[in-house]
Amino acid sequence: MRVNLLDFDRDGLIGHCAGLGEKSFRATQLFRWIHQRGVADFTQMTDLAQSLRLKLHDCAQVQDLRVVSEHVSADGTVKWLFDVGDGNAIESVFIPEDDRGTLCVSSQAGCAVACRFCSTGHQGFSRNLTTAEILAQLWHAEHELRRRLATTERVISNVVMMGMGEPMQNYNALIPALRAMLDDHGYGISRRRLTVSTSGVVPMIDRLAQDCPVALAVSLHAPTDALRDSLVPLNKKYPLDELMSACHRYLVHAPRDFITFEYCMLDGVNDQDEHAQALVQLMRHGAGRGVHAKFNLIPFNPFPASGLKRSPQAVVQRFAQHLQDQGFVTTVRKTRGDDIDAACGQLAGDVKDRTDVGRRLARTTISISNFQNPSSKHEH
Ligand code: SF4
Repeated sequence: MRVNLLDFDRDGLIGHCAGLGEKSFRATQLFRWIHQRGVADFTQMTDLAQSLRLKLHDCAQVQDLRVVSEHVSADGTVKWLFDVGDGNAIESVFIPEDDRGTLCVSSQAGCAVACRFCSTGHQGFSRNLTTAEILAQLWHAEHELRRRLATTERVISNVVMMGMGEPMQNYNALIPALRAMLDDHGYGISRRRLTVSTSGVVPMIDRLAQDCPVALAVSLHAPTDALRDSLVPLNKKYPLDELMSACHRYLVHAPRDFITFEYCMLDGVNDQDEHAQALVQLMRHGAGRGVHAKFNLIPFNPFPASGLKRSPQAVVQRFAQHLQDQGFVTTVRKTRGDDIDAACGQLAGDVKDRTDVGRRLARTTISISNFQNPSSKHEH
């Protein structure tokens, strides 16, 4: 079987080419043809020796993902559904803005974390993506968009690992993909513009700090363990105290001096004044020292199986104002691509569930009465 060269970061490609008897600068040339110029056909790589091109033709390929569908929203958002075999499909979303182009990338077919408010989580988990499958999402999107826009300039300036899956549970495939994205001979994305989002896999936050420090986002969604246990089941394994300590340690290595905390606004569940107050306390005093934080409030995209509702806009604004008044930079995420189901938590893809998560979730109910705040008089 021919090896897919999208499976390698540059060091990996250098190692692979060494096995073919080629020098490292040849591997770098090859890497640039693939990632900077989007060329998959070895015969077009004109500055490579003919002998290398023949070798590559025999034993290697640049294998793109198969596009199942593509939808372009009225606001310019593009959503691709890619086939990754065995009945699984994953999604990637390009979000154009005035000053940047962001690609949201998937890391797994499905997700085993099973967050209550997430339609991907409700689909269950099938398998980890390979490095090639992660990187091919960027390769495809970048070069396809360049062709359409008739430009040789870079279109995608930011990548967020926020699509389907928990990237930290696919760590070994994730790291080479991140390195290829950062590589100046690849996509040259800045560490500050490459974000890994995690629901809180604490040991992997520490490893990422050592192996490939990029911007970190944490899917928080609740300010107390009792509430978070019911929304993000992984919290039972890595409770808030451990998570906040890991965030604090990460900041020593991070390219930014803050962690972004994602907070999906759920009507009557986590969107009240006492939740905002508890959130402020957590950021100031969590794990004994607090964490420099920014907040990103996400309007929930309802789907029937969740049993949850989107917080009214006025409630979201009030929550944001409370955090801002306490000195925290807080943004409310614009919903993009609503008309093509490309907004956060709508990346459902198509997953052959091997974990039965969907059925288990359907049997669970959220225990919002678990919210423990002695000063709280609010009734849910
Ligand atoms: S929010 Fe993220 S971690 Fe949670 S189930 Fe969805 S994809 Fe998985």
